[in-house]
Amino acid sequence: MNKTRHRRISRRRFLQSGSALLAASLVGGAGAAESATTPPAVQRILRRAGASEARGPRVIVVGGGWSGLTMAKYLMRFNPRFEVTLLDRRESFVSFPLSSPWLAGQVSLDFLSHSFYEAANNHGYRFMHAGVIGFDRESRRVYTDKGYFEYDYLVLAPGIEYDYTRIGIDDPFEQQRLFQHYPGGFVAGSELLTIKRKIESFNGGTFLLTVPNGDYRCSAAPYERACMVAAVFKRQRLRAKVLLLDMNPGITIKAEGFTRAFEELYGDYIEYLPSSEINGVDIDGRRVLTVFDEYRFDDAVIYPPIRASSMIEEAGIANPEDPQKAPSTDPFLYNVAGDPRVYVTGDSRSQPFSKGGHTAHSEAQYVAEVIAAHALGREIRWRSPQTMCFSAVDIDPLESMSIITYYKFDEHSGQFAFDRTHVVDDWDPQGGQASLAWAEGMFEDMFYR
Ligand SMILES: Cc1cc2nc3c(=O)[nH]c(=O)nc-3n(C[C@H](O)[C@H](O)[C@H](O)COP(=O)(O)OP(=O)(O)OC[C@H]3O[C@@H](n4cnc5c(N)ncnc54)[C@H](O)[C@@H]3O)c2cc1C
Repeated sequence: MNKTRHRRISRRRFLQSGSALLAASLVGGAGAAESATTPPAVQRILRRAGASEARGPRVIVVGGGWSGLTMAKYLMRFNPRFEVTLLDRRESFVSFPLSSPWLAGQVSLDFLSHSFYEAANNHGYRFMHAGVIGFDRESRRVYTDKGYFEYDYLVLAPGIEYDYTRIGIDDPFEQQRLFQHYPGGFVAGSELLTIKRKIESFNGGTFLLTVPNGDYRCSAAPYERACMVAAVFKRQRLRAKVLLLDMNPGITIKAEGFTRAFEELYGDYIEYLPSSEINGVDIDGRRVLTVFDEYRFDDAVIYPPIRASSMIEEAGIANPEDPQKAPSTDPFLYNVAGDPRVYVTGDSRSQPFSKGGHTAHSEAQYVAEVIAAHALGREIRWRSPQTMCFSAVDIDPLESMSIITYYKFDEHSGQFAFDRTHVVDDWDPQGGQASLAWAEGMFEDMFYR
């Protein structure tokens, strides 16, 4: 066969193919069209998703986590003329906050699980179960597996992703294998189901947990989880050790309380090793490798460092200087540099606020007001998000510690710093009850009231 002709035909076929059209559409925006040979699945993606004619500005919120749910509700509250659509690739919501007490049997899965549809009905916006593929800022379109949506404002609240390259796992296949066998339990609800089963079926030996370095999601949660796993082993009088490898030089938050808990409650169960810079995992051999040592385990939960959603990098709005690929956004208004139509909130934000649900919730109320004001040609004053975080330490009954803080902008350093911080690092049953009341209040606000 004539090789040149074969190459030409292949190239023409490729250009006619759905994936090329999809790629052209995503890169080139509105210009792409369907052809007769475009596979139906791709045609669906290239069409406008079923949407009514807008009554007012269309706002698309990507991600129905703590940030996106709060955002959708408060956008409607601040401007009932907005046409708000919340998109999430998950069909239902499962809370990460309070998931560690759930691992230890202190709350039910029902308590953590809520319906996106109910939230949307109660607050007057639309929820679509759709996975976002990308967006084009020129044509103001968001492409999903259900078709594309047009927007006047776009809010990106897609949360975080794991970055396994920072623990020496570069091969995507190996990353997937590590995720599947030893999930970190910080991104998807199904990871939590796997982890609960691991804890319940553990027969003894070394159960390894890791704490990532960098600006990771929920500073206290890996230490809280170590306490909850140790509490289960202690209750079962299991001959088991929780080996907590911390990539940081020490406990990053509520250090006094967690140090005391590790010694007083779990001296026989938790071995805590700070400054454990992980640079490899032998998945089949069940070993974690650090710069100086290797640690064998019988089972593990491996939480690697994290990064902002790759959707942000793919759209060309990530800060190239930032190892976590956070977006280049205005630190006070949250919009993408030079684009007052696109905002990034929640754990994907660029500001160094604690990556917590409560932070995301209070921040989203402020940013919803910023967007509502922008639509009216107005501005509002910056206000700090609030971080409030409970950490479960003991069980039967649940006993917790807590921290509450705000942030201020320091003009000298040009950085944000903590402001008005209050730490309660003594755990007790009142703290445990307060944590349940806090979560209930948050769920009420995001879903029902
Ligand atoms: C174990 C654990 C314990 C925690 N404990 C606490 C606590 O006690 N207190 C506290 O305040 N915080 C806690 N947190 C942190 C809290 O869960 C996060 O900070 C919070 O979820 C951040 O909200 P978010 O909306 O930014 O991200 P998320 O809640 O992760 O939501 C992101 C959403 O975006 C969706 N999404 C992503 N990509 C796409 C796409 N391409 N298409 C469609 N949808 C997409 C996801 O499905 C997800 O629903 C804890 C976290 C963990 C893991």
